[in-house]
Amino acid sequence: MEQELVNLQNQAKEQLATIENDGQLEEFRIRFLGRKSQFSSIMKGLAEVAKEDKPRLGQMANSIKKEIEALYDTKRQEISSNSSASSADNNGIDLTLPGRKPQTGKLHPVTQIMNEVCSIFESLGFSVAEGPDVEHDHYNFEALNIPAHHPARDMHDTFYVSDSILLRTHTSPMQARIMETRQPPLRVIAPGKVYRCDSDITHTPMFHQVEGFLVDRDVSFADLKGVLTIFTQKMFDRDLELRFRPSFFPFTEPSAEVDIACVMCGGSGCRVCKRTGWLEILGSGMIDPEVFKMVGYDPEVYSGFAFGLGIERIAMLKYGIDDIRLYYENDLRFLSQF
Ligand SMILES: [Zn+2]
Repeated sequence: MEQELVNLQNQAKEQLATIENDGQLEEFRIRFLGRKSQFSSIMKGLAEVAKEDKPRLGQMANSIKKEIEALYDTKRQEISSNSSASSADNNGIDLTLPGRKPQTGKLHPVTQIMNEVCSIFESLGFSVAEGPDVEHDHYNFEALNIPAHHPARDMHDTFYVSDSILLRTHTSPMQARIMETRQPPLRVIAPGKVYRCDSDITHTPMFHQVEGFLVDRDVSFADLKGVLTIFTQKMFDRDLELRFRPSFFPFTEPSAEVDIACVMCGGSGCRVCKRTGWLEILGSGMIDPEVFKMVGYDPEVYSGFAFGLGIERIAMLKYGIDDIRLYYENDLRFLSQF
């Protein structure tokens, strides 16, 4: 028995010297210190030794057990300090720390609606065109039948860069720019930023519009109504009644403001629609023959319609947002909802 204990002690020391990681350490613990270890079985044999040998052997077994436990503890500390030291060696990066979940970005609600509007019109055969934000007075006004001193210029609260250069007040200049360089048939939408010197809960100095126009032979007001009806159905995912109200724009004749049945109350009247049951969503009309003449189209041959809609306005109606300025305050609590 004495010899068995000495052998065990030697084996433990030998094995301990080869241990390099936590796994090996655990194997060691099970083999030498666990409940089913060789050590336990030797201790069970102690019951059968001669009475006079018991105290001596018991004492010996205990001291060997303590020694192995102490060696085990020392080794365990050595291994854990080694592993944290090697983590720190990786350029100060602790590879044992749990990872951080990367934050995924999202498109701004205005961009989402703009993309949606574009894809609806693309499905109707319109192509997308983009133009400059800094525009000539000529394209922003003159070519759209708004000469200098025309009262309609007052509606625009324009930011001027110089006498003849300005920040575009609408996306309509793209009508003139495209018609100038291309021949009908044309089906184009032009999304982008526009600027007006105006700021309150329904206006921001910069906002987004989508301009759309179609030019071909025999285009009528019925085509305009058809295209806009399909657009509002797809945009708001339901059949919404449309109302055309006579209006005035210098570059369309006749002109109409288009209302949809209130998306909040369905037409019965609420705070959002100011009890009218209707919401204004865009301006439209048949392109004025004067505009065709300026780009060299024959108004006797060609006709067409145009419309312009505000993206922020559509997004407010679609998502029930009541203050346009929320879009531009960069508050993630607001933006991450979309
Ligand atoms: Zn309503």
